[in-house]
Amino acid sequence: MATLQLNQVTKSFGDTHVIKGVDLEVKDREFVVFVGPSGCGKSTLLRMIAGLESTSSGDLLIDGQRINDLGPAERGLAMVFQSYALYPHMTVEDNMGFSLKLAGVSASERRKKVDEAARILQLDPLLKRKPKALSGGQRQRVAIGRAIVRNPSIFLFDEPLSNLDAALRVQMRIELARLHEELQATMIYVTHDQIEAMTMADKIVVLQGGIVEQVGSPMELYHHPRNRFVAGFIGSPK
Ligand code: ADP
Ligand code: MG
Repeated sequence: MATLQLNQVTKSFGDTHVIKGVDLEVKDREFVVFVGPSGCGKSTLLRMIAGLESTSSGDLLIDGQRINDLGPAERGLAMVFQSYALYPHMTVEDNMGFSLKLAGVSASERRKKVDEAARILQLDPLLKRKPKALSGGQRQRVAIGRAIVRNPSIFLFDEPLSNLDAALRVQMRIELARLHEELQATMIYVTHDQIEAMTMADKIVVLQGGIVEQVGSPMELYHHPRNRFVAGFIGSPK
């Protein structure tokens, strides 16, 4: 089980109010997409959930437990970033197992987890390679593999496909949908790409200027946008 709840969450950097009172519920196993224009606060909100950014006010709860004061490692979440940030001198296998090694997990147990993640991501033949010998899509899969081995309760993705070309993006969207199905995990996915939001989400959260404009299924937002902004951004032309 992994539900996430945000109650009147805000974030300010000095006098700049970036997140202005967000309420949100993410259900167990839901695929939730945060979408909105550049600068609307998507990454900040995700980083607050991950514990990489403090919360100015409001509460974050996982399965009903307040997590505001827990560090990133204690929250049981895993974040996949836009830039792959793989260790260039390490093999795929070592990149994927590194966080487990830091956590003191035995070599045999690491091996098991890495092999399982490699199977899910179809990376088995590439385990001995270094990142520079991989394509962009393969690197992104390794970055996702690093999250999978940690068996997180919630996966957080911040524009993971934005560095990939259009064809690869389409393929990776399908793979992520399959991953969501196979892992039966709760996932929060940030994108500024409406098509990604419409095709991948169970639930879309439309953000603008640090405020949630609307939450709903792709069909709800498409057919019943609450305002002009949502209509223009995602809804059907009226
Ligand atoms: P998005 O991911 O939707 O493009 P961000 O969450 O990165 O948006 O940024 C939202 C706003 O917060 C932007 O105006 C950005 O400049 C500002 N911001 C983000 N991080 C900081 C920071 N560390 N200090 C000051 N302002 C920040
Ligand atoms: Mg961002």
